[in-house]
Amino acid sequence: MKVECGWCGISMGERPGPENEVSHGMCSDCAFRMLSRQEGSINSFLDKMDYPVLLVDSDVNLKYENRMLRELTGKNEQQLEERKGGEVFECVNWRKPGGCGKTIHCSGCTLRNTVEKTYLSGKPSTDVKTTLKVVTENEEKQISSFISTQKVGDYVLLSVRKFKVDG
Ligand SMILES: [Zn+2]
Repeated sequence: MKVECGWCGISMGERPGPENEVSHGMCSDCAFRMLSRQEGSINSFLDKMDYPVLLVDSDVNLKYENRMLRELTGKNEQQLEERKGGEVFECVNWRKPGGCGKTIHCSGCTLRNTVEKTYLSGKPSTDVKTTLKVVTENEEKQISSFISTQKVGDYVLLSVRKFKVDG
């Protein structure tokens, strides 16, 4: 599949995946432009994407996010600031002893593992199927999505596509 910069449209080459699909990343120029912005305006830079995009650190702490993520989670900027990925998505494990990333279930977490892999290797991942057990309104649900990761500065850019509640 072709990869384009979702911000300026420049071609970023090919990645494994369906021929006729285009995936989005962020080119190094746009990454530089984003990281040189004032902290308060990074979120609006991410608003360019019409699906949820997050900028997280190596431990999946949320640093910046776009409006689509706030709509998806129903949380505002203050409620999301510096939160663990598990808390952002209300994963069943983040309330457990140890918290997000520290429970025995977390070693199998695709979200965390994909972010860590990209952070450590610098290599992007495209459309990795992820399922999370979440609790919303005291009800346990399973959500699935396809995530893509790319290292940007000292962060990982995480895109969430085809988000679906499986009941
Ligand atoms: Zn670009």
